[in-house]
Amino acid sequence: MLICMAGGLNLTDYKKLAELLFPDVKKTPEELEAQFPARNLKEGARVTRLAPSPTGFLHFGNLFAGTVAYRIAKSSDGVFFVRVEDTDQKRKIEGAIEVMLKGLETYGVTPDEGVMTDGSEKGDYGPYTQSQRKEIYHVFAKLLTEKGFAYPCFCSAEELEEIRSSQENEDIKGYWGKFAKCRNLSLEEIEENLAQGKTWTLRLRSPGDVNNKCIFEDMIRGKIEMQENVIDAVLLKTDGIPTYHFAHAVDDHLMRTTHVTRGDEWIASVPLHIQLFKLLGFKLTKYAHIAPIMKTEGETGKRKLSKRKDPEAAVTYYIEEGFPSEAVNEYMMTIMNSNFEDWRKTNKEADINSFPFNFKKMSASGALFDMVKLTDVSKNIISTMKAEKVVALSYEWAKGYNQKLAALYEKDMEYITAVLNIDRENKKPRKDISKWSDIENYVSYMFDEIFEPSYELCGNATAELAVAALEKYLEIFDCADTKDEWFEKIKSLCEPLGCTANVKEYKQNPEAFKGHVGDISTVIRVALTGRTNTPDLYAITALLGQQRVKERLQKALDFYKQ
Ligand code: GLU
Repeated sequence: MLICMAGGLNLTDYKKLAELLFPDVKKTPEELEAQFPARNLKEGARVTRLAPSPTGFLHFGNLFAGTVAYRIAKSSDGVFFVRVEDTDQKRKIEGAIEVMLKGLETYGVTPDEGVMTDGSEKGDYGPYTQSQRKEIYHVFAKLLTEKGFAYPCFCSAEELEEIRSSQENEDIKGYWGKFAKCRNLSLEEIEENLAQGKTWTLRLRSPGDVNNKCIFEDMIRGKIEMQENVIDAVLLKTDGIPTYHFAHAVDDHLMRTTHVTRGDEWIASVPLHIQLFKLLGFKLTKYAHIAPIMKTEGETGKRKLSKRKDPEAAVTYYIEEGFPSEAVNEYMMTIMNSNFEDWRKTNKEADINSFPFNFKKMSASGALFDMVKLTDVSKNIISTMKAEKVVALSYEWAKGYNQKLAALYEKDMEYITAVLNIDRENKKPRKDISKWSDIENYVSYMFDEIFEPSYELCGNATAELAVAALEKYLEIFDCADTKDEWFEKIKSLCEPLGCTANVKEYKQNPEAFKGHVGDISTVIRVALTGRTNTPDLYAITALLGQQRVKERLQKALDFYKQ
């Protein structure tokens, strides 16, 4: 395969050049292959990875991509690992990776190997941090140079700019063909440049032909056909650090990744990547390019979920708002695989990890983010949790994001559990809570410290009716009553006040009554809670206790009497 020999260099020259450029490289590719052998996994097991750059910002799209990679590995008894792509030292932020990995861990996306959440590394295929892999990259850079597939480029930034501006009318832009000034330098010229101390990048000597096609099968999009790569892409930058392209080939080969799942901005680079894999003698990996998460805009428009414009683009948003991770995961799956909801209907209790995840069921145009749907999914999930679980999870959240609520919990854990247990664990549990930050408002009337009375009535419940009802009710209320006794007492208020205890009767002949038992209940409900809609009023009353109920009824009465 030495068809692309150029510049008068021959095989011996390439070897000399490789030695000249990489005198310190002693290891051989064969040694590395032996050091990182094919993984011993069962047939069909997939090895996937998430390769974050340490920016410190965990975009919902990163979590989404990480979840895809994680589930693909888990559903095949494979391996999911995390590799840190920190080759861009300028963008590096201290502690950023820990922040990102902690965010992923919240949603159960925990690596089997690679860079672990505490920042340590685990596994036999490391180092998993690119800045620690320079030596490994140089082994393969040397190999390509020896074979004539890489050469040093001494072009300055100005020269590259000149090339760019001369290409205005070219179909293919970049460092290639006749524009690739350093492609054909002789060994002497190279030696001279090096002797002058000129900095150099290592470039691919692409064997590509503009008339050839690169055809590959994307796991999500199916067959993709593009022009073969002809660009002499940079493989090593002037500081010897690899570009994304070169590092991707070397790392995903040596780490034995079977499926590369990544953002679809990389599709354009696949011809280069396939070329690199082939020139390096690597087995090709499979690709699944994930479209960005979209969001509707206006009536019909769509745009990418944006870090700048949308608070929900940051994973911290869901954590701060207190969406349970279970709910976010469940929701993500609904937008990740189009058949997930059907599966869920017939597998209500099943672990999400047992869902047979399928690339083909992913949207090629981008999953659509929908806050209303997330809220709905979350409400459903929370409604099926036991009160103890709601308390445990929301208390954990409150300690970080609502100390006032945490303090209320701490005063009496049994009480808050009982409050959150109202109308739970029955056939139709209420769905008032979609996230932990809803709880303070939801339970506020159960705590004198945060209860803000409001005496606004609705329906037939007028202030006049309220005065009459409350006066009587204060006399007969007894916290020790059973639910039936309690309700009988409320019904007993109706007739003397010109109302009916029978709602049907009222509906048949509304003019004949001042209201019905529902209106009387509203008066009591509003007096006790400041709301017209609450969970079971009897349960609320029982928890508030005799004294507090009487106090609140009295206050309400005083208010309406004014
Ligand atoms: N570090 C790359 C990025 O953040 C990862 C791409 C990949 O997964 O290969 O875009």
